[in-house]
Amino acid sequence: MVKKKVIDEQYIPDVGSHIETIDGKEYLITNDAMYTFYRRTKGELSPFFLALKNDKRLLGCRCTTCGIVRVPPFLTHCPDCNFAPTEPVEVGQVGTMNTTPPITYFATSLFQHMAPYGRGRVIFKGADTAMSVNLYTNTGILVPGIIKKGTEVKLVFRDERIGEMTDVFCISTAELTREQIHKKGLQESEINWETPQEPSLPAASEEDVARYRKALDEMKGLIEDMNGNESARKAIAGWKRDIQVKAKGGQCAILIDDGDIKMEERVLSSPDFIMVCDDIATLLDGLAYRGAITDSIINKKIWISKNMEFNTIFNLDRMARFLVRSKKTKDSFNESA
Ligand SMILES: [Zn+2]
Repeated sequence: MVKKKVIDEQYIPDVGSHIETIDGKEYLITNDAMYTFYRRTKGELSPFFLALKNDKRLLGCRCTTCGIVRVPPFLTHCPDCNFAPTEPVEVGQVGTMNTTPPITYFATSLFQHMAPYGRGRVIFKGADTAMSVNLYTNTGILVPGIIKKGTEVKLVFRDERIGEMTDVFCISTAELTREQIHKKGLQESEINWETPQEPSLPAASEEDVARYRKALDEMKGLIEDMNGNESARKAIAGWKRDIQVKAKGGQCAILIDDGDIKMEERVLSSPDFIMVCDDIATLLDGLAYRGAITDSIINKKIWISKNMEFNTIFNLDRMARFLVRSKKTKDSFNESA
């Protein structure tokens, strides 16, 4: 068996050189390397991480002299008290945001499976310092305003814990029952992620319905074009989603199935997620690449029922972009012909 290396083979350039011309002058460009390897510990086997992983407890450290409680317990001796020793202490699992957390929608590949997520600092009951945690919501997509400075949040434990900081995250206590808020070691599987509160749509006038029908025809055309576009199809290879779209004026479904995409006028019995947009033009504009759908979600013009489906929306935006690009390329071919 070949042992895996710290740096994957594919990232190591070949030995070699080539000539590059910059501003009319030739330069010899040679692949070379500068490297440093190091060994590190992130405290994986410390009492703090073991308590999170094995006992679903949150530990801090208390200075034996001044009594300040630091969470996480990053000091064994207090610098304010002539390095008096600290002792481990358990703190509460409900806390308050001490800042308004920024939300990451477009993460690097390393964190993409977690996005969108908030990242902010929480002061847990019994603690004097704030701990950084990831933040989620069970109300659908995480958008600005759900969790702010001062929002009370609850620590939630992943079902599968591996002794890392991502074993826990927080959600607003406003989204939990009394029992859940008071339960020590609340796990993610105990939270209802499946029935977020859908925004209600105002009653549609005849005009709204007409507007919806017109947009629907245009969207159907765009989606048909996407279905015939190779790059667009690649963006949804291996992807399978039934999306219910609800707008003022009507409902339709976007069906994605491993490269195939279609739009049908029907109500799905069990959609993978729901998209609600007051004005259907917002979605139409997104599909036509006149403004990204992801932006409309962040700006709260479109709501989706599942946070993690932001990735699907991201793919729809990519498809719209590919479609416009290929049309442009075709146009320029035609012009030059
Ligand atoms: Zn102290």
